[in-house]
This record gives sequence, structure tokens and C-alpha cells, in this order.
Amino acid sequence: MVLAELGLKIKDALGKINGAEVIDKKLLDEVLNILGVALMKADVNLKQVAKLQNNIRAKFPEIEEHSGNKRLQVQRLVVGELSGMLSTERKPYVMKKGKQNIIMFVGLQGSGKTTTCTKYAHFYQKKGWKVSLVCADTFRAGAFDQLKQNATKCRIPFYGSYTEMDPVKIAEEGVQHFKKQNYELIIVDTSGRHKQEDSLFDEMKQVSTAINPDDIVFIMDSHIGQACHDQALAFKKCVNVGSVIITKLDGHAKGGGALSAVATTESPITFIGTGEHFEDFEPFDPQTFIKELLGLGNLKGLFEKVKEVVNVENQKKLAENLQKGVFTIRDMRDQYSSVLKMGPLDKVIGMIPGLGNNIIPKGKEKDAQAKIKKFMCMMDSMTDEELDGKKKLNESRMIRISKGCGCVPTDVSDFLEEYNKFAKMVEKMGKFSKGTGMNEMNRNPGMVANKLGSIVPQNVLNQLGGTGNLMNMMKDLGNMEGMEQFAGMAGMGGLGGAGRGRGRGKGKR
Ligand code: GDP
Ligand code: MG
Repeated sequence: MVLAELGLKIKDALGKINGAEVIDKKLLDEVLNILGVALMKADVNLKQVAKLQNNIRAKFPEIEEHSGNKRLQVQRLVVGELSGMLSTERKPYVMKKGKQNIIMFVGLQGSGKTTTCTKYAHFYQKKGWKVSLVCADTFRAGAFDQLKQNATKCRIPFYGSYTEMDPVKIAEEGVQHFKKQNYELIIVDTSGRHKQEDSLFDEMKQVSTAINPDDIVFIMDSHIGQACHDQALAFKKCVNVGSVIITKLDGHAKGGGALSAVATTESPITFIGTGEHFEDFEPFDPQTFIKELLGLGNLKGLFEKVKEVVNVENQKKLAENLQKGVFTIRDMRDQYSSVLKMGPLDKVIGMIPGLGNNIIPKGKEKDAQAKIKKFMCMMDSMTDEELDGKKKLNESRMIRISKGCGCVPTDVSDFLEEYNKFAKMVEKMGKFSKGTGMNEMNRNPGMVANKLGSIVPQNVLNQLGGTGNLMNMMKDLGNMEGMEQFAGMAGMGGLGGAGRGRGRGKGKR
């Protein structure tokens, strides 16, 4: 089962809780069964599935006894235990700025070491580190050429040899070479074998002794499923693995085997590889990962991204407008432009609560992105008065705008429909925050939930995980620093609408 499918299955299991009248042991057992089957189908180790189920069972009585929203608490418990399964006590190595950090990559042949070395170097290079690559793979023909090509593409200095056959010698020389030039990050790519052989492990030990790395990164190919467990154990026994990177978590990997093998290595997963390009590389955090998997979003990550790209002045103005319940086309344009600046939609979509593979189905992100671009083009053709809602678009203006954007007038009315839907919701929200206020949320959550339920359309509410989850999200938002900038999220509503029509047309997944 691929990961997106696993996410949907777990969501289904949790959905049972949302729909139930009473939440008791019987219901919990039912949910845990569905969860267990889904995890096993995704290749998660049997023992770990049992452990997870037992942990949840053991903690359930506490929820039963306490008052409060049981649905939400069970959901939190499940998310917590799933993230726990992907976490380790050991903390990842923290790179030291201004020092020389030597990082050695190990793993079987074809697991993605050379590709990941480059992604890793590229990642830190973008953050301003002085990075370098050493090729100590003398086993595979063409290994040095591959690293050289990658490094050249990313403009990263590299070291290697076509003639020297001793990997230990090259590794030592390479590290010395870059140490002398004060490189902060010296990444050593090593060879692999098809199988876990003694010769590979001997070589790894020797290289490790010679260069004395600060961190040994174990590269694990997610395609091998359950076998990850034994492989991780074998590597762990041989060298001091400090962190794990899981590759090929794109496409049709089951993933569960690799992800849950982290317990075996006792070392944290630090990144995941999600494609062949150097940008297809993401820092890994268990809780964030699980939340994204379940479509609960990654508000923190999104928040950080939004902070990177938004125009603070625009956001302040928007926040004021939202409070008044006013949302102009110009506001919508500002939001869309921020969304486009955040990068390819398939990389940010999972962060948006409720959107991940629900409103915009997986694989359809490019269509949605194209639609946003088309909408942007229309908005760019509007006058200031039209953007600020001082003048309505009449038919002849719609024809004019559509011509300018290479589309038909109905496309412009589609746009206006999306815009109006959202503007209406903002208007109601404005009244809501005036009349109710966030403080009320803590005092009288039931009443607030009812009010919210009457404002947000039911299908959107379902996608956001019900009123309980929505309130939870709003509370999370309230607790974040610099919230005024977060009004940037607002435009996402229109974005969701953009994909929703499409999703419906293609049928339910
Ligand atoms: P090495 O033998 O361990 O150095 O592995 P390579 O870096 O040469 O990678 C083996 C193959 O896996 C290459 O074709 C890579 O493009 C591919 N690869 C590596 N990481 C990923 C990933 O995250 N996703 C996908 N789809 N392919 C990857
Ligand atoms: Mg290689």
C-alpha cells in the first residue's frame, strides 16, 4: 500500500470515531483493528503494530475518565503514538557552524547514496554553508563520474580519483584536502554492494576509522519493505550509524517498512528523498510527517514558508480586512502570488490542513497550479477599482479580460464564482469573530462549534476533520508568534475551491 493510501485508511479509521455516538472500548478495538491492518499492509513490522495498539489501549482509560472532547483526544493519542513509532531517543547530530563537519554516507548499492549526498550538500549550501563532496566509491565503475556530474550541476567542489583503487586512501585525502580549505561540511560518499557482504562492512569500518566522521548517515531504500529491518540491523552492528535518510518515498513505495525500521537503528530519520531531482529532499519530523499523512496539515511548516514569502504590509492590510469581514479581489491576488512563491504546489499542499490529497487529488497539483496562474493573469488584467471591489465586472469587461489571458469569458465567471464563495465565507467569519471572539472558544466550545458549523460549508468542514479539528487548528494558530502574517492562509480557501471542482469531475478516490 502506498503512503497516501495508508493515510486515507488511517483517516477512515479515525473517521469512525467522529461518526460514533459513544466512544468506548468496543469502538476503540474496532478502530485499532482497521489501523493495524492498514499498517501491516504498508509493511510495518508486526511487532511494532502490536506495540502501537497496546500503547493506545493502555492510555485509553485516562481519556474515558476525563471530560472534554474525547474524539479529539483519541485522535491526538493515535497521532502521538504513530509519531512515537517513528521517533528515537537519540537526537540527530547537529551541524556546527564555522567548524569542519565530516559526514559519511553508507548503504547498499542503488539505495541512493550518491544522489542523496548531493541533495544533502545542496540543502546546506542553500542555507549558506560551505559544502564539499568526496567520492570514496572505487567499487562501482563510473561512480566518480556520477558524483562529479551531480556536484558540477549544483556547483559543489568535489574530490575523487580515476586511478586510485583504495577507498580508504581517497577518503582520507579528500577529507584532508577540504579540511585545509576550511570547508564546513565534508560529505564522504562510499561504495555499496548488492548484498550485505563482509567485504562491504570491512571497507566501511576502515573508512570510518580513517576519517573519524562526526555523523554516519545510513541511506535506506524504502522499496525493500520489510527487509529494511534486517538491513538496518546489519549496518547498525558494523558502524556507528547516527542518522537515517529514507529514499524513494515518492512513487509507489510502501514506505511503512523503511519508516518503522528506524526503531531498529535507534537513530533518527533526518530527511526523506522524494524524487530523483536534487530539490526532492525534505527534512523529516515524525509528528509533522504523520499529520501530513493524515491530512491534518503542517501549520508550523506552512507558517514558516508563509513567513519566508509574504509581503508583511499586504498581510497587515489583509488581516484588518478579514476582521471586518471584507475580502477583495486584490487580497485574493496577493494570496495567490504568495502561494506561487512558495514553490511547486505538490510540495506545499500536504502542509495545508484538509487539503492534502483531498481537495486537490495527488497528481493533480500541476493542474491546480496552472489554474492559479490563469487566475493571476485575469487579476493582473483588472483595473484598480475592480481589484478593490469598487466596480463590478460587467460582461464586456469579462470578454476583454478573457481575451487578454487567452481564455474564454466563462473562465472569468468561474473565477468570480470562486472568489465570491470565499468572500462570502470571510464576511460570515468577520461577523463570527466580532460576535464571539476567540476567548469564547475556551469557555463554551460547544456553542462555538455550532456557530462554526453554520458558517463553513459542510463539505469543507468534513475535509478539515470536523468542527473539533477546526477549533483545534484555530487554537494552534492563536498560539503562534507573528500571527498577523498568517492571514496569508486566507487565500488558500479560494485555492481549495480551484481544485475541488476538478476533483469532483474526475470522481471520488
Ligand atoms: P547509490 O548506488 O547508493 O549511490 O545510489 P544512486 O544515488 O546512484 O541512486 C540509484 C538510483 O536511485 C538512481 O537512479 C537515482 O536517481 C535513484 N534515486 C535516488 N534517490 C531517489 C529518490 O528519492 N526517489 C527516486 N524516485 N529515485 C531516487
Ligand atoms: Mg553511488
